[in-house]
Amino acid sequence: CLYTSSTRTISSSSNQAFLDKNSSINAFVCTNDAVEYSGDHFPLGNVIIGVKDNICTSKLPTTCSSAILQGFLPPFNATVVKLLEDAGAVMLGKTNCDEFGMGSLNVHSVHGSVVNPFQHPSSTLAWENRERRSAGGSSGGSAAVVAAKICDAAIGTDTGGSIRLPAAYCGVVGLKPSYGLLSRWGVVSYADSLDCVGIIAKDISTTKRVFDVLNVHDERDPTCTNRSIRREASHAVEIQLKSWSNLKERNLHGIKIGIPEEYFPFELSGSVVKNTRSTIVSLKSLGATIVPVSLKSTSFALSAYYVIASAEASSNLARYDGIQYGLHIKPPLGADLTKTSKIYAHTRSKGFGSEVQKRILLGTYSLTADSFDNYFLQALRVRRLVRDDFDRVFRMSNVRVSNQIANADGVDVLMHPSAIRTAPLLDGEEDSSGLEAYVQDVLTVPASLAGLPAISVPITNKEDDGWPVGISIVGQWGCDDMVMKIGEVIE
Ligand code: GLN
Repeated sequence: CLYTSSTRTISSSSNQAFLDKNSSINAFVCTNDAVEYSGDHFPLGNVIIGVKDNICTSKLPTTCSSAILQGFLPPFNATVVKLLEDAGAVMLGKTNCDEFGMGSLNVHSVHGSVVNPFQHPSSTLAWENRERRSAGGSSGGSAAVVAAKICDAAIGTDTGGSIRLPAAYCGVVGLKPSYGLLSRWGVVSYADSLDCVGIIAKDISTTKRVFDVLNVHDERDPTCTNRSIRREASHAVEIQLKSWSNLKERNLHGIKIGIPEEYFPFELSGSVVKNTRSTIVSLKSLGATIVPVSLKSTSFALSAYYVIASAEASSNLARYDGIQYGLHIKPPLGADLTKTSKIYAHTRSKGFGSEVQKRILLGTYSLTADSFDNYFLQALRVRRLVRDDFDRVFRMSNVRVSNQIANADGVDVLMHPSAIRTAPLLDGEEDSSGLEAYVQDVLTVPASLAGLPAISVPITNKEDDGWPVGISIVGQWGCDDMVMKIGEVIE
C-alpha cells in the first residue's frame, strides 16, 4: 500500500497504475516507496506533491537531472521541503527537469525527455499512437505529474519561465512568486539573482494553500526578503483587495488590466492570439477596464536574461569539481595525477550535458575582462530598464524601491499569453538546443528580470489543435495574492 487517507486510498493496484502512468510520461525520476499519510488536520494534510529534482531532499537523491550528481543524497532537506513535510504534504517523488534548470522543453535531462500527458477530450487514440509533445521546461516533470492527475501540486523552480511555460503547455496552473518570498536554502543554484521556487497545481486554490505554507522568512537564505518589507507589501495588497469586495462574485469593476503591446510578437501563433483575445473580452464584459500599455525594453529582455543567467550559472557550477562530491572521473592512464585540473576537466566534460557546457562557456566569456562591459554590464543596464518599465505602469509602488512615486493612473495587473505557441512536438523538426528553444521564453523572462509575481492560468483552446494555452497575470512585487485572486476569475 502506497498510502491511505480518510478521503482517498492508494492501494497497491493503483500504485501500479501510477507507476504505469509515470513510465509513459517519464515525469518522476525517483519515487518514495515509504509514503506516510499525515492526516486531514494539517494545512496540507491531504495534498499529494512532487518535488523538482534540483531541490534537496534527505530521503531521496537530488540529481538536477545531471550525470554529475548521479546518486547524490543530500544530508538535509531544503527549507521548502521541510515546510511542506511539517504541513503534512505527502511527497510522492522527485520530478524530472532540464539539467540544472537550463532549458525550456525538458529535453536536456540525463533521465530522458518528459512527455506531455495532455489528452484531447475527443481523442480516442491509444497512448502509444498519440503525438509526443513536450511538457515544457525546465520544470516539465512537475507540470506533467499534476496534469496526469498523479499529484495535486508540485514544486519547481522558475529562473526565466520554468514554472509558467510547462504549466501553459500542460494545461495546469503555475505560479512564480515574487523574488525573495520563498526560501532558496537547499535549492541548487542556477542563477541566484533570478531563481525562484514556484508552485504548479491543479487549480488556484491548491496553489494558494501551498504558497501560504511556503511564504515565510528564512534567515538561512540571505536573499530572502525581510519581515518588514513583507508586512509592508501584504498590507498594501490587503487594502487593495478589500476595495474589490465583489471579486468573489466575478465582478471586476474598479480593476484595471494592462495589455502590453510588446507581448504580441510576430512569433505568436494565431490560436494563442485568438484565445487570449477572447479571454480579455470576457474580462471586459465582467467590468474590468482594459488598457493598452507599452513596456519599451521588452525586446532586449531575452538577450539580457541569457547573458545574466549564463554568467551566474558559470560561477555557480564551478563547485562541481569531481572532488568534493558527485561524479569523479579519473584521468587516463599516464596523466599527471598531481594536476587536479585534469580530474576537473575530465569530470566536467563527462558529467555535464551539452546545453550546460554551452551555458558555462557563454557565461565565462561574458565575465572575461574583454567582454564584461559590453555584455554583462550592458545586460544589467537592460535589467534595470525592464524593472523601471514595470514600475511606471503599475498603480502600486514597488516596496523594494525607496522614494518611488506611485502612478495613480496605473494598472493593477498586466495580462499576456504565457507562451508563443502550444506544446512543441518532441520528435519534431524544431531545434531543441538552438535559438528556437530560447525564444520560447520571450514572454516569461521580463517578469523574472524584475522579480515580479506571475501566474499562468490555463484557458480553453477553442482553436485548431485544442492543446492547452496559458494566460499570464503579472503584478507588482509582493502582489502574489492579487494575481491569484484575478486568476481565479479566469479559471
Ligand atoms: N529556459 C530558460 C533557461 O534555460 C529558463 C529556465 C528556468 O526558468 N529555469 O534558462
